[in-house]
Amino acid sequence: MSVPLKTLRRIFGYPSFKGPQAQIIDHLIGGGDALVLMPTGGGKSLCYQIPALLREGVGVVVSPLIALMQDQVDALLQVGVRAAFLNSSQDYETASEIERRLRMDELDLIYVAPERLLTERFLGVMDYLVSRNRLALFAIDEAHCVSQWGHDFRPEYIQLSALHQRYPTVPRIALTATADQLTQREIITRLGLDAARVFISSFDRPNIRYTVVERDNPRRQLIDFLDAQRGAAGIVYCLSRKKVDETAAWLNEQGIAALAYHAGLDAAMRLHHQQRFQREDGIVMVATIAFGMGIDKPDVRFVAHLDLPKSLEAYYQETGRAGRDGEPAEAWMTYGLNDVVIHRLRIDESTAGDEQKRVERSKLDSLLAWCETVTCRRALLLKYFSEEATACGNCDTCLDPPELWDGTVAAQKAMSAALRTGQRFGAGHLIDILRGKTTEKVQQFGHANLPTFGAGTDLDEAGWRSVFRQLLAAGLLHADAQAFGGLRLTDAARPVLKGEATLSLRKQARRLRGKKHRPSQESALAGRRSDAGTPLAAADAPLFEVLRAWRADLAREQGVPAFVILHDKTLRELAARRPASLPDLLGVPGIGQAKADRYGEALLRLLL
Ligand code: ADP
Ligand code: ZN
Repeated sequence: MSVPLKTLRRIFGYPSFKGPQAQIIDHLIGGGDALVLMPTGGGKSLCYQIPALLREGVGVVVSPLIALMQDQVDALLQVGVRAAFLNSSQDYETASEIERRLRMDELDLIYVAPERLLTERFLGVMDYLVSRNRLALFAIDEAHCVSQWGHDFRPEYIQLSALHQRYPTVPRIALTATADQLTQREIITRLGLDAARVFISSFDRPNIRYTVVERDNPRRQLIDFLDAQRGAAGIVYCLSRKKVDETAAWLNEQGIAALAYHAGLDAAMRLHHQQRFQREDGIVMVATIAFGMGIDKPDVRFVAHLDLPKSLEAYYQETGRAGRDGEPAEAWMTYGLNDVVIHRLRIDESTAGDEQKRVERSKLDSLLAWCETVTCRRALLLKYFSEEATACGNCDTCLDPPELWDGTVAAQKAMSAALRTGQRFGAGHLIDILRGKTTEKVQQFGHANLPTFGAGTDLDEAGWRSVFRQLLAAGLLHADAQAFGGLRLTDAARPVLKGEATLSLRKQARRLRGKKHRPSQESALAGRRSDAGTPLAAADAPLFEVLRAWRADLAREQGVPAFVILHDKTLRELAARRPASLPDLLGVPGIGQAKADRYGEALLRLLL
């Protein structure tokens, strides 16, 4: 057995490497540089942690996520790895003590904030270590922070190229979950990684199930969705701060432990909420996208979007925070006519230049096409990242294929209603006309006399909204910023209007459809859906709860997040396998030597 594999089993308690981990680790141990592009949850940490343990001296990890360093270090201490961090949150004495331990070779891994790394003081420590051949490697985490065009840009990252000039013999590994090819090239240039071997993994997240539902009653829909997720931790994204606050308050009234997170809350409150989310079981965080990069919780079971995200990239990133532990997770979104109108107007009305607007429009189009797709969502998402994939069987369009209908005539009616009213009204009013409703507005403008008035009683209101949404998404109608969102026909509409082209539309899902039981999830239900969503036999559920309560007590005592003690996945395995001896316990994934030493006896007693 190879030495890295032995280390994986003994220290981390996992039976085998995932994906390219083994290759990357070998490459680094051999002294090579590496650029690792791997999705969230792919297992990037082990790629530098194991080489740091197996090479001489300490591994230096550069990370911008100061708020997470404590948790990362705690997780390593739990498995018996000697780790520490250095950042601005510490006092002088603590920092000095850690530097002393570094010089004394008492650490395997040190996490350092980028601004700290290049101080004279820390360079002095590293000079000393390198002179004695005691610096194992540099790991540059979240390497996309070097990209000036990305939204996570950190100026200090630019200076990290100095590391190689000063310490050319120390291998470097840069890691990111960003799939974007431009960013990849930027990382290589800016960090001087031209000689690095590049390891690219598939960006597929097979354990995440994608579902998009047509929005009709968002609160009811959210509650129905959350009902199936009781006890699970998750994130609900909203566009505005106001909606975040209202949704969080409302969820609490419904008996769901929800917290709010947005840039309008003061820093202390934000940190407090983030820590509770990270540390406690089963918290629902209602947030704007301000809640993002600092999340490193492996057991986020769902990400729900109440509003459309900005782009498919953004959607992939935001939903990617679910299921890092590889266990089943849900990416769920409500989507409606308003989203399309609001986003189109936002772009049109922005002060950005034409080129920028063109890019944003095309990104929005990709996203809308994805929302409306009748083919596999995962395959389409991956295609956006230039990956080929076949139908996945784990998204709504695969599990419950939408029906198509010939919407040509309906589209003609809708467009003619827009034309005959001067192309300055929104969908609501046009639908009233089509449905033959004599509202005040209809009377005021004399629209009851139009030939289209009452021409569309064959569809209900939701049906018409679906038609308008699809016409907007497909670019046949355009929400005119100058006319306050009034719907205008585009050139693409002519052929359909004239009957020269037909239009296939997605059928408006029946109301009950979303609630239809899905076989694969049904089998996952054992009383309630366990918080991690994988099959847990009904007979094992009580034991799983006992283990969870035990873990929660320990986590509180030690002041660490529960998952740092043991992951849900490990607890579930324990409940199912009920190991009766220490060797059996060591066979459970996620239990290495240190954890067996530490918790073995207590666990065996609980499992008796
Ligand atoms: P990333 O940083 O790429 O998002 P992490 O390093 O946090 O991923 O790992 C994601 C999860 O996968 C963690 O819970 C980790 O313990 C687990 N993991 C990593 N490598 C393995 C492996 N070889 N076998 C089993 N689990 C693994
Ligand atoms: Zn699919």
